[in-house]
Amino acid sequence: MLYKLSEEQEMFRQTVARFAKDKVAPRVSEMDKKDCFPKDLYQEIAKMGLPALFYPSEYGGSDADLLTCCLASEEICKVSTSVGAFLGSIHSLFSSCFKLSASKEQKERHLPDVVSGRKLCAFGLTEPDAGSDIASMRSNAILNGDEYILNGVKNFNSGIDFADMTLVYAKTDPNAGIKGISAFIVEKGTKGFSYSVTGKMMGFRGIHHCESVFEDCRVPKENLIGKEGEGFKTVLSVLDEGRTLAGASGVGTAQGALDYAIHYAKERVQFGRPIAEFQAINHILADMATNTEAARQLVYRAATIVREHTKESMKLATMAKYFATDVAMKVTSRAVDILGGYGYSEEYPIERMMRDAKGLQIYEGTNQIQRNAVARVLLT
Ligand SMILES: Cc1cc2nc3c(=O)[nH]c(=O)nc-3n(C[C@H](O)[C@H](O)[C@H](O)COP(=O)(O)OP(=O)(O)OC[C@H]3O[C@@H](n4cnc5c(N)ncnc54)[C@H](O)[C@@H]3O)c2cc1C
Repeated sequence: MLYKLSEEQEMFRQTVARFAKDKVAPRVSEMDKKDCFPKDLYQEIAKMGLPALFYPSEYGGSDADLLTCCLASEEICKVSTSVGAFLGSIHSLFSSCFKLSASKEQKERHLPDVVSGRKLCAFGLTEPDAGSDIASMRSNAILNGDEYILNGVKNFNSGIDFADMTLVYAKTDPNAGIKGISAFIVEKGTKGFSYSVTGKMMGFRGIHHCESVFEDCRVPKENLIGKEGEGFKTVLSVLDEGRTLAGASGVGTAQGALDYAIHYAKERVQFGRPIAEFQAINHILADMATNTEAARQLVYRAATIVREHTKESMKLATMAKYFATDVAMKVTSRAVDILGGYGYSEEYPIERMMRDAKGLQIYEGTNQIQRNAVARVLLT
């Protein structure tokens, strides 16, 4: 049950915190208002070695443990949930899937570019009629000679407009239920693959959530990741890392809002005193801090055991996701209370944090679905 940040992890946390403050924070307001992701910022992130954290050293990665990846996500999310959560979820999903199922040739072909930041991969699982119920997906891929012919529609593909390829899940055997789902890499520019940016989201601004259409899209046989029918199995195991990282994003978002609220409460004077001197404000801050710390401990604990891939590790990752992102929602909302009317204004960062926290509760599987999963473990 013991875990503790090593000296190296503490130093790493401080380095990422400085990076977030110097390089990410100045871009956040513009990203949110213009709903656009600056390409040069991603290059800075890559230079900093953050994508590399998620990948094995033989492909240029730094093979970081999951707790270190969580620290990176948490620190970036303190200033921008869009950037931190996007980075964490895209790279954890892609790297876990590749580590688990990709062939040596596939790794050699794609990983060096992704690790160095030259390329990025989006993740296409959700469909208009298959969200929580992944197994009901309709996308299908039929083997025809040396190619699969892929047809279907995916939605909420985060950052596919920015990415160079996407990991797509489709049924290779429509009669086999979840055992008929397979995973493919589809590169941008492949004939029959198109995408469009759909409506603006409430939060996560800067990252576009797109709809992708596959129309008789011919995907080379070599782009199948793992074996036919193993797609769902990989989804389940990659989701555990993704959920823990989503929890870390919740902790970062909550801590960012708490830090801002503390600073504001000390500065804002009403009735001749800083509002930080009112007991009602003290109690709100105390609850915000306690909830954030409880979420952090759960996320760190999950991060230390998730790669064991046991029932217990799956349960903790799932608890960490829903608890920490619910805390992010609660804490950002209380931060709005502390800022009063200014908390509700776009001129201050708290309303953005609150909008982003709502997205955290939904992506990587809604928090209701997470509760179902925890209950299933408890009852079996
Ligand atoms: C910011 C953001 C980024 C995303 N990025 C990606 C991405 O990159 N790639 C990708 O593939 N997807 C992505 N998604 C999609 C996300 O994974 C889905 O939105 C999510 O899984 C829920 O699916 P849905 O929206 O279709 O909701 P539905 O499944 O239709 O659910 C609607 C409501 O019903 C509830 N519900 C459904 N079934 C049950 C049940 N059995 N028990 C209890 N409650 C239930 C849900 O909890 C929810 O409250 C993203 C979503 C968001 C918000």
